[in-house]
Amino acid sequence: MLQIKNLSKCFEDLEVLRAVNLSVEKGEVVVIIGPSGSGKSTLLRCVNLLENPTGGEILYQGEDITQLGKKVTDYRKQVGMVFQRFNLFPLKNALENVMYAPVKLNKVPVKDAKEQAMDLLRKVGLENRAHAYPSALSGGQQQRVAIARALAMKPEILLFDEPTSALDPELVGDVLEVMKQLAKEGMTMIVVTHEMGFAKDVADRVIFMDGGFVVEEGAPQDIFTNPKNERTRTFLSRVL
Ligand code: ADP
Ligand code: MG
Repeated sequence: MLQIKNLSKCFEDLEVLRAVNLSVEKGEVVVIIGPSGSGKSTLLRCVNLLENPTGGEILYQGEDITQLGKKVTDYRKQVGMVFQRFNLFPLKNALENVMYAPVKLNKVPVKDAKEQAMDLLRKVGLENRAHAYPSALSGGQQQRVAIARALAMKPEILLFDEPTSALDPELVGDVLEVMKQLAKEGMTMIVVTHEMGFAKDVADRVIFMDGGFVVEEGAPQDIFTNPKNERTRTFLSRVL
């Protein structure tokens, strides 16, 4: 579904991604781990073109997305993103947050969008909070609304950038549970996270990044029990 080839990204003379290669199959869950500053967010931001890569290719279903021109908008609709900070519209309630993009961008009739949004809120366990404003929701609830909002565009692939890092520990589980359920349903996902338990349970493949490189990748049981690279071992010994 997604093939990243020799991707590089520089901010002025700072090289943040160096010759990154990564492919993601349909239905696969790829978890990216690695120290702060290693380029994980930049990689995700390149995948949905929030950043323009400096070099290399990103093929989505065989087409280089860096060369899409005007079709970028269509591509972006197929790629959902969930951030560490939930970024909900503060003046819209949960239901309105989820309905907004389908109505505005896809011209879905309000009645249909509303029904669909209610279904999605039910899916993330928040149907009884549909009319609550973000400020009245816990961080975990806001993040689940953000996931429902991403799903409302019916994305082909979902990117998560540390979706639970800003949450109080007791709220992390509900969000991970929703993500686990999505994985089970066959959603294609790239997840940057420090939740190693989630990576072990849910990932088909784990990528370890350091210094802008993909240092190691493999099945979770291999990476976690038998990391080959010294830097992977050091990182894991700190976080596990
Ligand atoms: P991670 O998500 O792994 O913590 P990031 O991708 O956020 O890493 O950042 C990688 C490096 O790129 C860091 O050194 C960061 O300071 C730098 N960086 C990220 N975004 C920008 C930007 N817009 N301008 C300049 N430097 C940036
Ligand atoms: Mg980051």
